[in-house]
Amino acid sequence: MSHLPYPHLARDAHQALMLDGYPLSQIADTFGTPTYAYSSAAITQAYQSLTAAFGDRKHQICYAVKANGNLAILALLARLGAGFDIVSGGELARVLKAGGVPGKIVFSGVGKRADEIRYALSVGVGCLNVESQAELARISAIAKDMNLIAPISLRVNPDVDAKTHPYISTGLKDNKFGVPIEQAPDLYRQAARDPHLRIVGIDCHIGSQLIDVRPFAAAAERVLALLDLLVLEGIELHHLDLGGGLGIAYTDEHPPTAADWVSTVVGVIDRHPIARRLPIMLEPGRFLVGPSGVLLSRVEYLKPHKAEGKNFAIIDAAMNDLMRPALYGSVMAIVAVKPDATQPTTTWEIVGPVCETGDFLGHARELALKEGDTVAILGAGAYGFSMASNYNTRGRPAEVLIDSGQAHLIRTRETVESLWANECLAP
Ligand SMILES: *Cc1c(COP(=O)(O)O)cnc(C)c1O
Repeated sequence: MSHLPYPHLARDAHQALMLDGYPLSQIADTFGTPTYAYSSAAITQAYQSLTAAFGDRKHQICYAVKANGNLAILALLARLGAGFDIVSGGELARVLKAGGVPGKIVFSGVGKRADEIRYALSVGVGCLNVESQAELARISAIAKDMNLIAPISLRVNPDVDAKTHPYISTGLKDNKFGVPIEQAPDLYRQAARDPHLRIVGIDCHIGSQLIDVRPFAAAAERVLALLDLLVLEGIELHHLDLGGGLGIAYTDEHPPTAADWVSTVVGVIDRHPIARRLPIMLEPGRFLVGPSGVLLSRVEYLKPHKAEGKNFAIIDAAMNDLMRPALYGSVMAIVAVKPDATQPTTTWEIVGPVCETGDFLGHARELALKEGDTVAILGAGAYGFSMASNYNTRGRPAEVLIDSGQAHLIRTRETVESLWANECLAP
């Protein structure tokens, strides 16, 4: 895993790792570790690769905020023209704070609270992606009370196997997301009769980290079959939202390109005489920000020849900072920021300081390490910081955005005082 799977990462003449030409060792020295660093250019290029692939075809990219909700990143994507896919009132507030356009926001999620629905309707979000009959009824009642008409879309569960990790697969019948596609016509009929609801579209999201376009095509086919049924009943849709899930390379995967994703979806949809006139929406999260980021961390201690002859490298980042390896068993590339040719290469278990055996960042990595070295965990721009916690009373990392040759601190490291700011001593 010594190769660098991301084009904006490179090594200089002395083998030092650079992100967009900016030395990552300098970021570690200036801002400390652990620190997330992101490339603004990588995010911009990923966004533009999708919009370029659509060309003149009507579309809207709605960035899935949960992948990385930092205000600077949301503002960057808003400036590029992105809409946003949100799953909470908190994410809505973030998007508005960052300058996102309410009309380009879709609100997903199985558990929208009444106050969140009210907030979304009051600011004029583009669409609520409804995930159950009970939610449809709740939205209708709130819209009635607010004396307005709620724009809705049904999130259907097309029952296609995204062939990804079970925890990030969402399009199968037996998980909590969406409504079964067979029940959708009934719910659309109910919505069509309801004076407080306006049907704007249909949506599905079949899973995350897909590395094959075929499940996407299969989901689009099922959505079109449902569209045919709705057309017969005179129910009109105004957009088709095929969700996110576009995978990226973490180590040696070969995911489809933006052009592959878009041409697959457009290829299926534009063969349909009605669907071809509707805007296509996508909700990518990981694809837009994942490759842009690294997590920088320092080696605290080396414990060679520990249990079962394993060698442990204890770094200052842990599962609370980057949860994907511990949560999903995800394999993420880990490389030395400044490889030291004088050190022997050894097979290391890369672990953090947190008191859990599950606290690992990588297993059996071939690296030449010594105490104090900085390592970079690659592909950490998505579901990295956004999933971080304060477990073990560890402040979450700093975040830095590299833009036009400069490193901007976009989130300071959390202080320990901030971790108990909401706590009170009992009287
Ligand atoms: C998580 C999520 C996304 C984004 O998924 P990625 O795999 O990051 O592209 C999009 N839509 C919905 C409804 C989601 O829950």
